[in-house]
Amino acid sequence: MRHIDKTKTTQPDFLLRFRKQNETPVNYGEMRKLENDNGEKYCKCQGTKQERDIGAFEMQLLKEQGFLCAYCNDKIPEYKKVNNQKYCKAKVEHWHPESSVFSIENKLDTDYRNMIICCMGRKAVSKSTEEVEDYGMNKKELHCDTSKKELFMTLDPREKKHINKLKYTENGQIYCIDFEDRKTLKAQYNTIKDKKATLMKYKNGKTGYFLEAKNLTDEELNLAIQHDLEFILNLNTGKLKNDRQTKWNNINSEVSNKFRQPYLLSQQKRQFLNSKISFFDNLDDKGEYEPMCMVKIFYLKQRMKRLNKE
Ligand SMILES: [Zn+2]
Repeated sequence: MRHIDKTKTTQPDFLLRFRKQNETPVNYGEMRKLENDNGEKYCKCQGTKQERDIGAFEMQLLKEQGFLCAYCNDKIPEYKKVNNQKYCKAKVEHWHPESSVFSIENKLDTDYRNMIICCMGRKAVSKSTEEVEDYGMNKKELHCDTSKKELFMTLDPREKKHINKLKYTENGQIYCIDFEDRKTLKAQYNTIKDKKATLMKYKNGKTGYFLEAKNLTDEELNLAIQHDLEFILNLNTGKLKNDRQTKWNNINSEVSNKFRQPYLLSQQKRQFLNSKISFFDNLDDKGEYEPMCMVKIFYLKQRMKRLNKE
């Protein structure tokens, strides 16, 4: 998961105007109807097959994230062709749930800084069913925003501190802390939740829990992040794990091949690792990041640590 820096972001003009004009809470549904002078909607993408386009609004989010899903960091293609029709393959996600009363009262549902863009969040369970991914309704594992739905989460990709806590294993697991098993993790999380979570209301009258990072000790935060990775975002689902493992293997062979060269000095090895880190940490000339690039960056930084100890 990459850090999404919303502090440097330029909020879209149409959105700022809309929020200014409306003293009382506005809502996301109304925002989506806004049009420019040519009668074209700013927000077009719904993440459903009825909507077949990407608006200027979604394009700004995509560019901000280098065309990666905010949670799984898989590539978000702008369009996918199905039966010669172009369908958009992105969903706008509200980190703070759009339908919470707090969100509406504080205009978070139309706050650009609360919005991130995500993949469709449906991966085929096994490779053999991959062909029917997306709009075919075969076996799926839900992840990212599609798994999170309207739940509250502690882990926040806009927080660098959270992102720096994330680690990866050679078999493609994303994790924050080692945990015994899912049942124990859930039980430990519930203990913290009972003690520290805030009860939140949704506009339909239902309630949910919000475990805010600022109220947690570092140990509790780590546990909550692990919980969110596993249970809210479901990021260790088979296909995502396989893809991360492939990334790990690729960078591992690349570095191993390089380091096998005879007479390579430690300094040259360091230079090589640094150049690779900077390559994966920057946008390419199309303005995109390599999908799941954080796996490679994590691997490279580990190699650097090992090298420095030698
Ligand atoms: Zn995703």
